[in-house]
Amino acid sequence: MKIGAPKELFESEARVALTPQSAEQLKKLGYDCVVESGAGALARFTDDAYREAGVEVVDSAEALYAAADIVLKVRAPEGEELDRLREGHILISFIWPAQNEALLETLKAKGVTTIAMDMVPRISRAQKMDALSSMANIAGYRSVIEAGNNFGRFFTGQVTAAGKVPPAKVLVVGAGVAGLAAIGTATSLGAITLAFDVRPEVAEQIESMGAEFVYLDFDEEQQDGAATGGYAAPSSPEFREKQLEKFRELAPDIDIVITTALIPGRPAPKLWTEDMVLAMKPGSVIVDLAAERGGNCDLTIPDEKITTEHGVTIVGYTDFPSRMATQSSTLYATNLRHMLTDLTPDKDGVPNVNMEDDVIRGATVTHEKEVTFPPPPPKVA
Ligand code: NAD
Repeated sequence: MKIGAPKELFESEARVALTPQSAEQLKKLGYDCVVESGAGALARFTDDAYREAGVEVVDSAEALYAAADIVLKVRAPEGEELDRLREGHILISFIWPAQNEALLETLKAKGVTTIAMDMVPRISRAQKMDALSSMANIAGYRSVIEAGNNFGRFFTGQVTAAGKVPPAKVLVVGAGVAGLAAIGTATSLGAITLAFDVRPEVAEQIESMGAEFVYLDFDEEQQDGAATGGYAAPSSPEFREKQLEKFRELAPDIDIVITTALIPGRPAPKLWTEDMVLAMKPGSVIVDLAAERGGNCDLTIPDEKITTEHGVTIVGYTDFPSRMATQSSTLYATNLRHMLTDLTPDKDGVPNVNMEDDVIRGATVTHEKEVTFPPPPPKVA
């Protein structure tokens, strides 16, 4: 069968779901590959590079969807992308099924089997397909680079003939996948890095990366923000108050704040309030990785970069992985290739959507003209 990747139509999306390298691996599973001309251009994969990897390059999206049995995408399909999908197609993409009920109904009615990469269960066996983590890792790294680009000083402290430079102080709020990547990047650039999370179990990880965990003056037993299967639950008002009190104390001294705090299924908690922004020094930078879910900072405007009157820059971009399209396409295409490896146990170029397999079942959101989301709870905890 043939696996194809179209050019992404979502505005400013630079990623592509198939790379020349992943195509070579997919051929070993018995598949042929096809790509729409220019699909990889913004991620720096030329049509010629695909041809050299044995990928057929077609001129139009129509030709791509007509040729492919399995369609690999980055963004959930919309508009004409949906029109081009047909009965029997297998679509593997980010889908966000909980927020996209109408899309699921359309895909079901069309008879498309849809595998949502954002629904891959986060269990050890599926780590190689965990596209949420690979994209969060990039977002965390890039948030620090973006902060540096908007910050007028070094991260690392220096003593030079021209004077002594103090190190920058970075605070990372939320130490999940993106937060830990931000901590690693900030410490490797030489910043003094502080980090906070409602899950106290991450303190050790934070400290092992050379950063300082911000402890609250709060009875640990009562840290009820912690833990439902590794994710955060909303904090109690008392806990939140302690957290804000601590942040208020830190704000005048912190140069860069990276916020990544999220609670599954809820808007992002507001943790960096307007008065904290106003207490920061001119030239300070806030990068709000939670912008897409409403932002952790009161003043964040999603997709925009603003500077307050007193000179604090707040970056609310929501497309960090796309801003590093070569890297993110490479990692995402590898996640997809691993998904296809599991879908093709006989390496015969024929996918088997095995609904008895926990990982495949968990990620499959439409199949055989049914909506199969949400999946049943996993058999093993
Ligand atoms: P996420 O994006 O849902 O949230 C980011 C972080 O924000 C989390 O660490 C959360 O605790 C924190 N947070 C929430 N409210 C906060 C608040 N008020 N103040 C400060 N921090 C707050 O998280 P994620 O990056 O998707 O990771 C969630 C968990 O899943 C982690 O434990 C991670 O290690 C785990 N995980 C497991 C696997 C796997 O086993 N395959 C893969 C990826 C992640």
